[in-house]
Amino acid sequence: RASSSTPPPPLALGTVGFIGAGSMAEAMARGFAESGAVSPSSMRVSRSSDAARAARWTNLGVEALASNGDVARVSDVVVLAVKPHVLPGVLTEIASHVSPETLLLSVAAGVSTSFIERAVSDARGGGGSRDDDRRFSPPRVIRVMPNTPCQVRAAASSVSAGAHSSSADLDAIASLMRAVGACVVVDESLIDAVVGVRRVPSYTGPHTTPGSGPAYVYQIIEAMADGGVLCGLPRADATLLAAQTVMGAAKMVLESGEHPAALKDKVCSPGGTTIRAVAAMEAAGVRAGMIAAVRASAERSAELG
Ligand code: NAD
Repeated sequence: RASSSTPPPPLALGTVGFIGAGSMAEAMARGFAESGAVSPSSMRVSRSSDAARAARWTNLGVEALASNGDVARVSDVVVLAVKPHVLPGVLTEIASHVSPETLLLSVAAGVSTSFIERAVSDARGGGGSRDDDRRFSPPRVIRVMPNTPCQVRAAASSVSAGAHSSSADLDAIASLMRAVGACVVVDESLIDAVVGVRRVPSYTGPHTTPGSGPAYVYQIIEAMADGGVLCGLPRADATLLAAQTVMGAAKMVLESGEHPAALKDKVCSPGGTTIRAVAAMEAAGVRAGMIAAVRASAERSAELG
């Protein structure tokens, strides 16, 4: 985790308002605050009916406003962080407060920027008289696919432009998400692939399991620890070593810039223990299983979207 002694100056985003005070919004707000990208005094949130949740936002120093409309009215960046099935109603509610200065940042899984643009325009009566340009200009929307490690500044996010957002909008939101982890800029058509790699569950229906996060890696860590236990290590030691090994390997990939295969080659000495293990993994189909898992998740994301 980054621990710079002089935090970077806040990003010039103005007021950032969250609609939906749930897990994802809270993780983002905590990450933004801790990174210094957005100070709590520049954030707003719509009031949560969950008392414990509301208290956490208050403790973070973020002011809660009575309605979603109030949040949209006072915010330069409006983070749409409600469940996808709730979003259409929220868009209708806030549409009249979305001005040309407002940037809508949606994290809702499976909801396209064009859906959001259309919903806001329709709710404002777009297509009617053009005598009020401010009222009828199409909304600027950026779609973000974050994950909850935002909270510890270890997110793996993607950002995608909507039809009416500018490259400055995209740059600003990419910078924001880079303050809380890694972030790639992708065409919106590739979001299902991002979901597949990260294995974030879908949130579009009642049968969802929010927050399962990097499930593949948890499974790998569990399996490595099982192997350690099989060979005689106590469970706690085996889990610690497995998790630390995964973290170390990930840092090597991220910080060395070397291809993972090259890093693997460097630790495989001829006739040694590691190449024996690599051969066993190939025989068991671990590589093919992982590729199939990413594809299955991406396909499911596309089905639900
Ligand atoms: P959550 O259930 O924790 O949060 C949703 C919040 O919205 C709740 O606090 C709820 O009280 C509030 N809410 C419901 N109706 C509302 C309304 N009409 N107005 C204002 N607030 C309302 O869910 P979450 O996991 O935080 O997911 C939120 C969004 O983030 C979803 O669209 C999901 O697809 C997306 N997302 C989540 C994750 C994740 O890891 N949790 C990752 C990527 C994207």
